[in-house]
Amino acid sequence: MTLTLVPSLPVLTAPVRPDPLGVLGVPGEINLDHAASAPCSRAAADAVAGLLPWYASVHRGAGALSRRCTLAYERARQTVGDFLGARPDDHVIFTRNTTDALNLLARALPAGTTVITFGGEHHANLLPWPRGSVRLPVPDSPAGAVRSLAAALGELARDARPGLPVLVAVTGASNVTGECWPVAELARVAHRHGARILVDAAQLAPHAPVDLTALDVDYLALSGHKLYAPFGAGVLAGRADWLDAAPPYLAGGGATSHVGAATHEVRWTAGPARHEAGTPNLLGAVALAAVCEALGAADRNALHAREQALLARLRTGLAALPDVVELRVFDPDAPRVGIVSFVVAGRDSAEVAAHLASRHRIGVRDGLFCAHPLTRRLLAEAAARTGRTDLPPTALRASLGLGTTTAEVDALLTALTHLP
Ligand code: PLP
Repeated sequence: MTLTLVPSLPVLTAPVRPDPLGVLGVPGEINLDHAASAPCSRAAADAVAGLLPWYASVHRGAGALSRRCTLAYERARQTVGDFLGARPDDHVIFTRNTTDALNLLARALPAGTTVITFGGEHHANLLPWPRGSVRLPVPDSPAGAVRSLAAALGELARDARPGLPVLVAVTGASNVTGECWPVAELARVAHRHGARILVDAAQLAPHAPVDLTALDVDYLALSGHKLYAPFGAGVLAGRADWLDAAPPYLAGGGATSHVGAATHEVRWTAGPARHEAGTPNLLGAVALAAVCEALGAADRNALHAREQALLARLRTGLAALPDVVELRVFDPDAPRVGIVSFVVAGRDSAEVAAHLASRHRIGVRDGLFCAHPLTRRLLAEAAARTGRTDLPPTALRASLGLGTTTAEVDALLTALTHLP
């Protein structure tokens, strides 16, 4: 008996749509789930294909191939660092993804650090932080977020443990609503109070430049698989001092400068290698760097304008459907990236998503989007705002990417208009 694990799909083809990265796709499949994982790009695929014939160990071998691979890996680090506006005193550490990057930073916090987050975060930016972290309520406006943070930092400085480190950990763009958080303003407030700030850029980086220097933030985390590179490579970039002082994230080869015969006699190396024990993901790093290079050379303003036009078309179309209710935290006109969550009143979201997939070959996400506190709250607010008692307990999410076309947005709207 042949076990079919996945329905057969046409093989990945050359780019089917014009965009600066050459995003790959499957003809006939409408992918509106970029926020979960974006398709691979030609830029990343070519970088991987170029390495496959000759890759060898990184940071270990003396052979020519090994030395070339070490060079390629370190060049990838430099490229990613340049793309992220890394400063001389920053480290760029390759991780598996954003979750890994945030867990790494959580383990590197100096003793006694208080972490402040907002309740609207993805679980990856809620769960790794130590006990005693402060979770601020979801504000109703970007200005409210800034005020709330200033008040919390003032209170901490007065009452809690003055002088101990504080880290503000905030998303750049929400994976539920696509709304952008006022990162630069939050950074100013954090720094005024002597705190540091981390931006979870998993959703912002695919849509807008993220730059440590320009935003004046201390740490950035992102995932390659949301940035048109394959799975398995992410980044934590930011201030070196906490990272060099912390125990290594993983203990093992590559993170040490000396291991003695006695148990636990070890000197850990400083620098990014301290937190990259084990053989690194060269292909992932090089693919991610290729995307960074291509995006760095692209006209980001033009990409932004294109995406905003598609987003406006999608939101306007959704607003015209009498049973569709959009989820949002801020004012409807607040800046956002190409992500929209919504419900169809009286319809189970999982059933709608399954119908879109099976009848229209449109891929969207349904559920609570790994941001349970926020999504549940927004569902309750949507019910209160509209007075509808037939909203489902989970939502749908459509997210746009570089290859998304007007026809694809229209296909979703048409399919939602004619739900059976
Ligand atoms: N942060 C945000 C805002 C996200 O949207 C996600 C994933 O959806 C993550 C963090 C976690 O990313 P990853 O699953 O790649 O670790």
